[in-house]
Amino acid sequence: TETQPKDFIRNIIAEDLANNKHDGRLATRFPPEPNGYLHIGHAKSICLNFGVAEEMGGVCHLRFDDTNPIKEETEFIDAIKEDVQWLGFDWGEHEYYASNYFEQLYAFAVQLIKAGKAYVDDLTGEQMRELRGTLTEPGQNSPYRDRSVEENLDLFERMRNGEFQDGEKVLRAKIDMAAPNMNLRDPAMYRILKAHHHRTGDAWCIYPMYDFAHGQSDSIEKVTHSICTLEFADHRPLYDWFIEQLDIFAPRQYEFARLNLGYTVMSKRKLQQLVAEKHVSGWDDPRMPTLVGMRRRGFPAKAIRSFCERIGVGKSDSWIDMSVLEDCVREELNEEAPRAMCVLNPLKVVITDYPEGQEEIFSAPIHPQKPEMGQRQIPFSREVYIDRDDFMEDPPKKFFRLGPGREVRLRYGYVIKCEEVIYNDAGEVVELRCSHDAETLGKKPEGRKVKGIIHWVSAERALPVEVRQYDRLFNVESPGASKEIDFRDEINPDSIKVLSPCYAEPGLALASIGEAYQFERLGYFCVDSRDSRSDALVFNRTVTLRDSWAK
Ligand code: ATP
Ligand code: MG
Ligand code: MG
Repeated sequence: TETQPKDFIRNIIAEDLANNKHDGRLATRFPPEPNGYLHIGHAKSICLNFGVAEEMGGVCHLRFDDTNPIKEETEFIDAIKEDVQWLGFDWGEHEYYASNYFEQLYAFAVQLIKAGKAYVDDLTGEQMRELRGTLTEPGQNSPYRDRSVEENLDLFERMRNGEFQDGEKVLRAKIDMAAPNMNLRDPAMYRILKAHHHRTGDAWCIYPMYDFAHGQSDSIEKVTHSICTLEFADHRPLYDWFIEQLDIFAPRQYEFARLNLGYTVMSKRKLQQLVAEKHVSGWDDPRMPTLVGMRRRGFPAKAIRSFCERIGVGKSDSWIDMSVLEDCVREELNEEAPRAMCVLNPLKVVITDYPEGQEEIFSAPIHPQKPEMGQRQIPFSREVYIDRDDFMEDPPKKFFRLGPGREVRLRYGYVIKCEEVIYNDAGEVVELRCSHDAETLGKKPEGRKVKGIIHWVSAERALPVEVRQYDRLFNVESPGASKEIDFRDEINPDSIKVLSPCYAEPGLALASIGEAYQFERLGYFCVDSRDSRSDALVFNRTVTLRDSWAK
């Protein structure tokens, strides 16, 4: 087609396809390690890998990179699948596990030993580090580097058979201890770990290292384009070296810039810590940058996908502001979310000239731009609640809401005027007494301008709900960036504010789990999937109507 691909990865793929490389076949993969829940950074990788496959007629494999038995759990595998599906992607039959290749990887290792390209080393981790050299100094060969092929084959087999303890021996690639690229200084290929694996059980007590497992898994699956983040650029020579030595199908690795999002953390180790130490309520806490957290918070999958599209795929690391993501969420919810009124900090207003016991029903659009969504019915009576923020005892001129002697319109209803302010003994405002202009329903008031329109809820028919307002989880843009400060000391202590009771228009009683609403004038809110009950609704504030982060 004539359209220009959007980024350098798509450019490369388009060219490869045009040149009929790999017979015009395209296969990518998303390779999560099942040691935690997916976060918004993973979404970038998912959208890229699954996205190009979808757009350019290829397939994308979902491969669990489950080569580390210690930290991995089946719970995470299920959660990862659910998240990928939630984002709207489908791996079809292409679900793979690196652990399924253990036997093949072992055979590859034996092949390298036989070729004199790998050896068993008895050095301790510490000794190996000492001999590894530095960026400016070459390393030194291990005294075990020149073991014979026979001895290496024997020792490696005995490693597999469990004759040695954890850490006693490793299998290393025999490359070059003076290589400028540290990854090529005889990297470890296998280590001994007498640990139970969630899929292979106790079948193995040696496990392949990432660098030996990853590229070979790509090759076994005949992945054509292995797309990963920039920090693996230095591993590419090693990736290529193994493939070349083994003389197996050669995928190519390409690196793109990872997503860094301000005021949050994305390392799984840190996210795990937040959960374990109860700084948050779980992986799905609405303040977490995880996909389960964002889903619970009310971020639509479509908004996350359009965010990934908007930030694009580049080659240099950069920081993205949370407001970019929130704008995508607003755009999506503005289109979709039904409107409702909800008073967060209730202040009672008595309309003294409105008959007691009388009720009127006002009609309002469910969505102002989408008449096809229909109308909603809003009861009005003598007593209503308004938000405290919409009243000031001594308002400045530009305050167009309520103040003593001032007028304001109740949205979809009458213009009311504040005639009297009632205080409690502590001098706090507890109630307003107002009059109403009966001629103002759907009409402008006679002879004067009333600029302000506020939301409100009939006191008698108000639905009490709990509302949880979230703020950023950290106080600094890049938590943990400084070596002296623990990232946990940078947690924002006020990242959650629970408001209860709030009063919602009665129609919200039918709101169900996950449903998103715009609370007029306030923002977007959704029914919490964990703590909400049909008779005690809990709403999460997803985002405010406008960007409030710049405050
Ligand atoms: P951690 O180091 O915190 O454990 P990880 O990157 O090792 O995270 P994996 O499960 O191995 O997590 O990642 C799966 C895929 O997602 C990898 O290909 C990785 O490059 C990609 N990925 C992870 N984080 C980001 C990010 N912030 N931006 C873009 N891609 C990412
Ligand atoms: Mg990891
Ligand atoms: Mg990883």
